[in-house]
Amino acid sequence: MNHFINVILPIPLQQLFTYKITEAESTFLQVGMRVAVPFGKSKIYTAIVASIHQNEPTAYTAKEIFQILDDQPIVTENQLKHWQWVANYYMCSLGEVLRSSLPSAFLLESETLVLKNENFDSETSLTDDEFLIVEALEHQAILPIKKISDILDKKRILPIINELLTKKAIIIREEIVEQYKPKLVKYIRLNSLYNDADKLHDLLENLSRAVKQRSAVLSYFSLSAATKKPIKQEELKKASNVSSAVIKALAEKEIFEIYTQQTDRVNFEEATAQLKILNEFQKNAVQELREKFMHKDVVLLHGITSSGKTEIYVELINEVLKKNQQVLYLVPEIALTTQLITRLQQYFGNKIAVFHSKYSLNERVEVWNNILQNSDKAQLVLGARSSVFLPFSKLGLVIVDEEHETSYKQFDPAPRYHARDTAIVLANLHQGKVLLGSATPSLESYYNTQQKKYGLVELNRRFGNVLLPEIELVDIKEGYRKKRMKGHFSERLMLLIQEALAAKEQVILFQNRRGYSPVVECKTCGVSPQCPNCDVSLTYHKLRNELQCHYCGYNNAMPKTCSACGSPSLDTKGFGTEQIELELQELFPAFKVGRMDLDTTRGKYGYQKIIGAFQAQEIDILVGTQMLSKGLDFANVSLVGVLNADNMLNFPDFRAHEKSFQLLVQVSGRAGRAKKRGKVVIQTFNPYHQILQQVTTNDFATMYKEQLHERHQYKYPPLLRIVKITLKHKDYMKVSSGADWLSKSLYNTFGDAVLGPTSPAVSRIRNQYIKTILIKLPHNKPIKQSKQIIQKVKNSFQSITDFRPIRFNVDVDAY
Ligand code: ADP
Ligand code: ZN
Ligand code: ZN
Repeated sequence: MNHFINVILPIPLQQLFTYKITEAESTFLQVGMRVAVPFGKSKIYTAIVASIHQNEPTAYTAKEIFQILDDQPIVTENQLKHWQWVANYYMCSLGEVLRSSLPSAFLLESETLVLKNENFDSETSLTDDEFLIVEALEHQAILPIKKISDILDKKRILPIINELLTKKAIIIREEIVEQYKPKLVKYIRLNSLYNDADKLHDLLENLSRAVKQRSAVLSYFSLSAATKKPIKQEELKKASNVSSAVIKALAEKEIFEIYTQQTDRVNFEEATAQLKILNEFQKNAVQELREKFMHKDVVLLHGITSSGKTEIYVELINEVLKKNQQVLYLVPEIALTTQLITRLQQYFGNKIAVFHSKYSLNERVEVWNNILQNSDKAQLVLGARSSVFLPFSKLGLVIVDEEHETSYKQFDPAPRYHARDTAIVLANLHQGKVLLGSATPSLESYYNTQQKKYGLVELNRRFGNVLLPEIELVDIKEGYRKKRMKGHFSERLMLLIQEALAAKEQVILFQNRRGYSPVVECKTCGVSPQCPNCDVSLTYHKLRNELQCHYCGYNNAMPKTCSACGSPSLDTKGFGTEQIELELQELFPAFKVGRMDLDTTRGKYGYQKIIGAFQAQEIDILVGTQMLSKGLDFANVSLVGVLNADNMLNFPDFRAHEKSFQLLVQVSGRAGRAKKRGKVVIQTFNPYHQILQQVTTNDFATMYKEQLHERHQYKYPPLLRIVKITLKHKDYMKVSSGADWLSKSLYNTFGDAVLGPTSPAVSRIRNQYIKTILIKLPHNKPIKQSKQIIQKVKNSFQSITDFRPIRFNVDVDAY
């Protein structure tokens, strides 16, 4: 009987591929293991076994697999079901889900190796380069292609290799290279011979003249008495101040034994703190949550900023861990979470695993394996959106902290998933519960509580009864007219900053743009420098004296004169964080100003440095972008200033008002968390805007009602679904005619539910012209059918030769 497997390949093709396996392989292989398989011309790919069966494919002859890469599945059956859901719901391929789920170290690619053909003997026919290679193969039987490039000191070596192949001088072979390397640590133990007191005595006598060796042995004893744990070679070296050579000498005399052990790269200390005692409001909330969870799988905890939501999560996490179930704690941005990690580490110690995009490839593999093995070290998993793809086995609870955050949505590449919704499906597969938490819930989650789909628990008091900050709207129209502004600061904001600084308190200032100014304009002719690759103005960065594109990364030096008319009078329009930082340095020279935005937080510890310095009060005023709104907890901040609220309110997006409310309430929430009531100043040209009014009174209910009403009227989520199709191509005419064709054929089925095609606000990025089409799908129609139709239309679109090169992205719930 013939045996076959279906595998998922990490490529964007819809179908699974069938490969042939032997009888023996069929008994060994399990679903979820990796196999290396040949695909395409000569490439070898890593694939995941999705099923094992005996049905020969009819459309093609199944190739044999190349190699089995695991002895145990590295992907669980639940994960495969979950991937399938993601692929169906978000309209992408399983391969794309696989690619964003597995740490890249698991996806081995082949490396080409060159070997000498033993039958070759006409070396005279070779060129110099060819001869060098053949000679090198005399010394080393197998050479990786990369090495050959070094030997010849040339980049283009493939023609030479090909020539050698035709001359039959070499043969080549593909081999899979494992990227993950376990970390091995050297440990020392004393030969058990010396457990005997007399022998030990003799030993120390014998070593009396080898001072360093004696000191190493003595240090060994004091260390093992103190820690009662295995002793690392490094520890011993430090404690006894001897070199590796001394320890090696002792090992050669068989006094010490050196052994190695595999270890994880990231380790947490053991727990050091008891859980906090909850106050009565927190206790009530916990009780209510438990009750709601009896009837609902998902509950939203709507608790104002600093009401102590984290401690409530901690209480529930503790309960679930005691039941020996795993917990997934999702945060919008893991790099901003050092404060939270420290807090959780104190309670749960080394039960925590952090899944971090800035971790190395090896570190991520270790976290994956610990979760897969349900190891003690991965009971509480903390991570950003992609951690919904980890191999949980007994997931009891998922916490989605700051559930309203847009960073839970992946926009590019596919799968274009929302981690909150994906987590709800994941928890469901494990019969676990989901707790959504936010001070400013998303309209869609709150709507779901009103529809009784989710439970709702509210918490309206700050911990310690500190009042929510007092929020003042400052009209800057007047200030500018009467020339009373100092740079971008109103008199009122200036005064409050001075007061806060005088009281040795800290200040946070928010401006939703980075750089010095988003537009440079010639005063003479009005032309402003544009990105050559994108349809957008270049942002001026004064500190680097550069113009930068925030879409494609293009940059060049700031010109001295206008490129159109040559006039030297260049003006800047609008302002970003850098300009505010520079103004502050002039206005408050005696104080230290820090800036937190994309430009200052690069690198693995970028955020940590700034957050740490602010916490240690080395920085008095911190200026930043929306990064500042994400759950940071600084006790000494008494004033928060928003330099301009109007940009975000006027942003062309149906969620602009909701987002502005969330952002402003969250930034305000950074003021006055610990002791006294904080102050917030929001500068605006339009203080009567309803959203700003609702922010000042923290009136979520009215905001929700009004926004929902608008969504009703203009037909937007959460009242219906949106599927967004984006077309991209470097030829404008092509993408434009493709978009017209597409919208017409969608119109045939969906009628008025199709909007567009339109060009987005930035209609060209990286030289690709962009067109979008929206399809609005009512909740009362089965979405599955609509998606099938969209898929069909996509297939016919791509069967038209002229349209085939157009990039076609589908985004379900595109917001
Ligand atoms: P939220 O997540 O709702 O914004 P946090 O959980 O960060 O609020 O709590 C705000 C502050 O109050 C934190 O500094 C936290 O340590 C403190 N806190 C909250 N609950 C307690 C408690 N039960 N006992 C002591 N301190 C608490
Ligand atoms: Zn000009
Ligand atoms: Zn650009």
